[in-house]
Amino acid sequence: MKKGGNAEQSILIVGCGISGATAARVLAEEGHRVTIIDQRTHIGGNCYDHWDENGICVHDYGTHIFHTDNRKVWDFISRFTKWYPFQHKVRGLIDGQLVPIPFNLNSIHQVFPAKLAQRLEDKLLEKFGYNIKVPILKLRETDDEDLRFLAEYIYKNIFSFYTQKQWDLNPEDLDPAVTGRVPVYISKDNRYFQNRYQGIPLSGYTAIFEKMLNHPNITVRLNTKYEDIRHMINTVENSQTTGKVGQMASDAITVDFILYSGSIDEYHAYVLGELPYRSESFDFITFGREYFQSEAVINYPNNYTFTRIVEYKHFLGTVSDKTVVSYEYPEPFVRGKNERYYPIVNDTNQLLYNQYKAKADTDRVNSKVPVYFFGRLGDYKYYDMDKAVERAMALVEEIAA
Ligand SMILES: Cc1cc2nc3c(=O)[nH]c(=O)nc-3n(C[C@H](O)[C@H](O)[C@H](O)COP(=O)(O)OP(=O)(O)OC[C@H]3O[C@@H](n4cnc5c(N)ncnc54)[C@H](O)[C@@H]3O)c2cc1C
Repeated sequence: MKKGGNAEQSILIVGCGISGATAARVLAEEGHRVTIIDQRTHIGGNCYDHWDENGICVHDYGTHIFHTDNRKVWDFISRFTKWYPFQHKVRGLIDGQLVPIPFNLNSIHQVFPAKLAQRLEDKLLEKFGYNIKVPILKLRETDDEDLRFLAEYIYKNIFSFYTQKQWDLNPEDLDPAVTGRVPVYISKDNRYFQNRYQGIPLSGYTAIFEKMLNHPNITVRLNTKYEDIRHMINTVENSQTTGKVGQMASDAITVDFILYSGSIDEYHAYVLGELPYRSESFDFITFGREYFQSEAVINYPNNYTFTRIVEYKHFLGTVSDKTVVSYEYPEPFVRGKNERYYPIVNDTNQLLYNQYKAKADTDRVNSKVPVYFFGRLGDYKYYDMDKAVERAMALVEEIAA
């Protein structure tokens, strides 16, 4: 697999999330030997889920809905699961009503008097057309008084406080790629995603990872932090510099190259500084009633300190007289205290990431054991699951080329 070669190789993958597991499976099927490690006690990374005592599948690191337009990615993941055809709809509590989010034509008719709602609809259609998502910050710049009123309403009631809660930043200080994710949708489609393929794995996400990693060429080691085994990696380099390889022949890991889906700054011992992230904490509560709320996800853009409440039984249509929900509280990422969730994308942080990437690229050229970074932590980039799969597949192809 080293550039230009197809002979069987030994590969260490750091991180058992969807990035690492995808790369592991693809490489194993190409005949390579893969050892995949994770510091956690379980596989699946942030996609990990479990079944509680009431038979409800709970997503431990926040709600995960699989959605993609990429047929190759969908077919790949579908080899390891059947799907529940869940179509995600979100509602937000606005002016005392549960309104479709993203704010769309149905939302407009729900919150405004009929005449005003119709006028807004007509103007939106005339200016932008149907089935268009307009970022809220763009709508705010329009010269039409009614549309500016709408923009201010949405900005104030959906966007502003929610964004502050989520990011602890003013919306203006965020990258447009992030703010653009909060659109006004000129449509009557109440779904959150319009992708061709979307769903929830019938047996849960963890079961996907169990199947993906169940291959004779893959060895999984949990409770294993890269930094703790770095010296055990049986490379020509290490045997020359540390002389330790001989002492640990029984559990040494022989490696031709490394795919690293952990944090790029942590790998480099933070020599250039620390890349900031947002984290979340989840308060899971079981209620002794059939349902807690009407949809899987209800957002609270103006109230409380949590951003949303998720009710898990909706995802698979589970029947139970109990129900479990989680309240999600955004918080800063603090090393050793919580998990890295969302990279905070702005110019300063992107520059720092670019410096780490440049260092990694130079080190790789000079190293006998190349290290390739990928995944949401390795690339310091928010990836939906399908994009993480795409990136892992592309990286494996790139290395083989
Ligand atoms: C709250 C939330 C909700 C989300 N909802 C959705 C959704 O609905 N739909 C969707 O498509 N995507 C969603 N995502 C995105 C999804 O979680 C990511 O696409 C996916 O987790 C990326 O996988 P990954 O393998 O790159 O990273 P991760 O899942 O984070 O896996 C990385 C793994 O590496 C391990 N690791 C890190 N450093 C080391 C080290 N030094 N040594 C050993 N192991 C290490 C970690 O323990 C972790 O298990 C959501 C993300 C969040 C935060």
